[in-house]
Amino acid sequence: MIGYFKNIWVGFYSLLAGMAVTIRYFVRPIVTVQYPREKLKMSPRYRGHIELIIDPETKTHRCIACEMCARICPSQLITVEGIKVGKKKLPTKHYIQFQYCSLCGLCIESCPTDALKWSDEYRMAGFSRESCEVDLLARLQQQQRLLGYPPTPIPEPVPEEAAAEAEKAATEEKPEAKAKAPAKKAAKKEEPATEAPKEKTEKEKAPPAEEPEEEAPKEEAPATEVKDE
Ligand code: SF4
Ligand code: SF4
Repeated sequence: MIGYFKNIWVGFYSLLAGMAVTIRYFVRPIVTVQYPREKLKMSPRYRGHIELIIDPETKTHRCIACEMCARICPSQLITVEGIKVGKKKLPTKHYIQFQYCSLCGLCIESCPTDALKWSDEYRMAGFSRESCEVDLLARLQQQQRLLGYPPTPIPEPVPEEAAAEAEKAATEEKPEAKAKAPAKKAAKKEEPATEAPKEKTEKEKAPPAEEPEEEAPKEEAPATEVKDE
């Protein structure tokens, strides 16, 4: 009989304990995330893939396409290409193959302009390895649009053929210029020799033109003398 009432009490107590937990969490803020409609807020120390920082003053990136990050990466997974626009060098390509990243942080530390940081991106699921490749310039434009900033235009890369032709032209011009330089020097040396005889011939021509003028009055003088007589 005692055991019967004891079982009833234990059952009732466990019911109350369970309800207490339910009531306690019922009044607390909701922690459930409606994934994928909602995005988690990651910890500041979270390391996603790298991304370009948006400078609050210029509202664009600070990358100068120096390729330091690409060179120091132990997995050689960063690709950077750039061209000169005025005095600045700007990136035309900047992407990473995140599937090989070891999150070592060397690229961020070595960047001379502090242009890189860790992103808070964690939704990197895909059906192939290539889907993990991230175009940092395209991502930058995406974030700029979200912040209401004008997206940074990506400069057009110079076509390889045009670049090769420009290099050829530059290399061809140099030897021509070198060849012209001694020719010019030689011409300068020859110039005084050729001009000198010209001056002499003019001088030579000049005296015969004056001689008849001087002789003329000599012939006229006797004529006047005859009239006086
Ligand atoms: S974190 Fe390390 S492995 Fe990843 S891209 Fe940067 S340098 Fe390369
Ligand atoms: S991100 Fe930094 S290290 Fe990499 S190319 Fe740009 S300026 Fe150089």
